[in-house]
Amino acid sequence: MDRPLRVAVVGAGPSGLYAADALLSQENVPLTVDVIDRLPTPFGLVRYGVAPDHLSIRSVRDKLDGIFERPGIRFLGNVEVGKDLTWTQMEHYYDAVILAYGASRDRELGIPGEDLPGSIAATDLVNWYTGHPDMPPDAFTELLAGSHSVAVIGVGNVAVDVTRVLSKCANEIEHTDMPEHVFAALRGSGVREVHLIGRRGPAQANWTTKELRELGELEECGIVVDEGAQVDDPASMTAIASDKATARNVAVIEEWLARPPTSHPRMIHVHFRSRPVEIRGTGRVQEIVLERTTIDEEGRASGTGDLHAIPVDVVVRSVGYRGLPLEGLPFDADRHVIPNVEGRVMDGSDVRHGLYVTGWIKRGPSGIIGTNKKCAVQTVSAVLADASEGLLDRANDPDPESVMIALAHVDVVDHEGWRRIDAAERSLGERAGRDRTTLHDRSDLIAASR
Ligand code: NAP
Repeated sequence: MDRPLRVAVVGAGPSGLYAADALLSQENVPLTVDVIDRLPTPFGLVRYGVAPDHLSIRSVRDKLDGIFERPGIRFLGNVEVGKDLTWTQMEHYYDAVILAYGASRDRELGIPGEDLPGSIAATDLVNWYTGHPDMPPDAFTELLAGSHSVAVIGVGNVAVDVTRVLSKCANEIEHTDMPEHVFAALRGSGVREVHLIGRRGPAQANWTTKELRELGELEECGIVVDEGAQVDDPASMTAIASDKATARNVAVIEEWLARPPTSHPRMIHVHFRSRPVEIRGTGRVQEIVLERTTIDEEGRASGTGDLHAIPVDVVVRSVGYRGLPLEGLPFDADRHVIPNVEGRVMDGSDVRHGLYVTGWIKRGPSGIIGTNKKCAVQTVSAVLADASEGLLDRANDPDPESVMIALAHVDVVDHEGWRRIDAAERSLGERAGRDRTTLHDRSDLIAASR
């Protein structure tokens, strides 16, 4: 090709930015990259997923921000592909498109009562407390103020985050970058009991030890574990013997089991081998019904028919994220991913030339932030190989200015605009004695970017 390849990356979270970085850190194929995001701010789940009190993980954004220093990259924030730019336009302006838009919705439990008021998705709660522009500021204020007891379903890291944030006292969150309305709602929260519920045993939980341990170290909160925590079945014994991380997790639970009973203003109750079968209530959540399970030789849960109910005011469903389909593109509705082979989008057995995926929409919602780096490198290798074979010469109008002309009607936030938002958030935080206060309102974000 006698001009630089034009690549669009859709999604400015870690997976998209790692892909941009991998594209721009090679010299074999000259190219330029536009990183497009429907939000006015970059960093995806690092901004709207990582818990606000996990400051060291959130600081990954500084590293990701450095990728925008590379020559040949642009940030086009507040641009929705499919709406502000149609797919026909994308094909017109770009030789290759890498989809890195993640998995933004919650998975469902599929049990009666799931839709009762007070049954909420962890994805919504996390979006709210991190200040996502799509969440109304008062989304959970009343619910939290009027609630005492919350059930969190699922024993992954998101469930741990949600449990910790709901169980911390005001003192423990003051330093974070949560928006002011979230501070106010958490200060006014009536929640004093959180039930963290796993359908299998401690050896099958998905959390990481560092995150798990924090639950036992909160200022005003005690922790108790129920009798489902014994690990006496063969599958759990094998898992502990063969995997150090599992053994460490189980050791944390055993340490909690051995703690003498104490009295605290707040409590976390951890339940294992407890499968949710129904959420009950008249007009709102009032209790959750759990069935005791046993763990079979493969480590799967099977119900025993032994039911018990816990009175709760809120159920937070934290059973994983799922990706959403894009109109006109193939989608695997069972795995909630776009079918692909090593990042190349597949339509049945045919390759969709010029279209790639990376991150959670490629492989499903698993792994830590760093997992996306390896995933992006694999996808970018496919892009570069296809470019070298002359398969990507498709853009009719590859002039980088043409797409900006097409977006003249949109308030595009570029990287300079993000820098101004960043400065505004830091200055807002400084006034409150914090490093940063997140701006949550889309029009405030756009105004700050000007
Ligand atoms: P996850 O790790 O997949 O955990 C989902 C949990 O939901 C599992 O315990 C699963 O149990 C349970 N579950 C699924 N369906 C269920 C059902 N019908 N009834 C009851 N329980 C059910 O998902 P996640 O917590 O959303 O996390 C997503 C990814 O982000 C993970 O890779 C996670 O490590 C990562 N993350 C990392 C951090 C961090 O590093 N600090 C923070 C947040 C998220 P089964 O195992 O029995 O299916």
